[in-house]
Amino acid sequence: MRGPDDLGRAAYRGRFAPSPTGPLHLGSLLAAVASYADARANRGIWLVRIEDIDRPREVPGAADLILRTLSAFGMHWDEGVVYQSRRTDAYRDALDTLKARGLTYPCGCSRAEVARAGRAGPEGPVYPGTCRSGLRLGRRARTERFRTPPGRLAFEDRIQGRQEQIVTDAVGDFVLRRADGLHAYQLAVVVDDAMQGITQVVRGADLLLSTPRQILLQHALGFGRPGYAHVPLVLDAHGRKLSKSLAAAPVDARDPLPALGAAWTLLGQTPPPADLQADAFWDWAIPMWRIACVPVQTSVACPTASSPRAPDPPGRTSTPE
Ligand code: GLU
Repeated sequence: MRGPDDLGRAAYRGRFAPSPTGPLHLGSLLAAVASYADARANRGIWLVRIEDIDRPREVPGAADLILRTLSAFGMHWDEGVVYQSRRTDAYRDALDTLKARGLTYPCGCSRAEVARAGRAGPEGPVYPGTCRSGLRLGRRARTERFRTPPGRLAFEDRIQGRQEQIVTDAVGDFVLRRADGLHAYQLAVVVDDAMQGITQVVRGADLLLSTPRQILLQHALGFGRPGYAHVPLVLDAHGRKLSKSLAAAPVDARDPLPALGAAWTLLGQTPPPADLQADAFWDWAIPMWRIACVPVQTSVACPTASSPRAPDPPGRTSTPE
């Protein structure tokens, strides 16, 4: 029997891939709930991957806390948890493959130089290609960049609809290995989604603009392209993204139902009946899941958001390069 949002696929493999930068809050819960519900409604496998590649941003204990919260919320994963911090060899191999294909080059530019030389793009300064044809004399390599091919890239998002990006215009040649030696998120996520056989990526809309870069890398590495569905981000009362790293109220693992119900409703789904018990939530919810009802928006307002004290952190493009 097929699920309500039949993808016509024999094998659905989905995942939730949190970065352990803090406990789960309503915003990250939305991605977890949507990916879990979509996998289960399609009789699929659901996996968890801890994206602890960015050691400097990691909060000790957050990974275990996230896993315990998912379990307490009745979201159980089907295979061993993958930790990006243990996958460095796989990222190095992938980078070597790209290098061997002539698709990367070393770049000597600092972040400040790129900011000065690059025009503004949707995710920060667009790399102007300074080192594309070789490092200038006396410069040492800081990062390794992907040689972004020209052309418009399009994909169909299952929630947000058709998306298009000319990656050379929006981002330019992007970093695969950062100045601190760490592999970039864009590379790691593509290598891991392929290794885990992920067929459907359901995640937050903050990654909508990253998807074309990931598709380019999949293509360059000879990997298949999963389907994509980006759920709205949850904004606080000031219109800022709830962020794990910014003291957004953690969801209460001892009392799952209010948070599950809030996430479910923000996802545009039929609100759970008032007398539903927490341990019956998923039996009730999975047959009710309708991805077509998720708001076609990249953000929704949080009804009861505690407002973070600091401004929104810089985006992914401003991780160390
Ligand atoms: N680790 C990312 C985050 O926590 C999600 C990455 C993904 O789902 O591709 O925002």
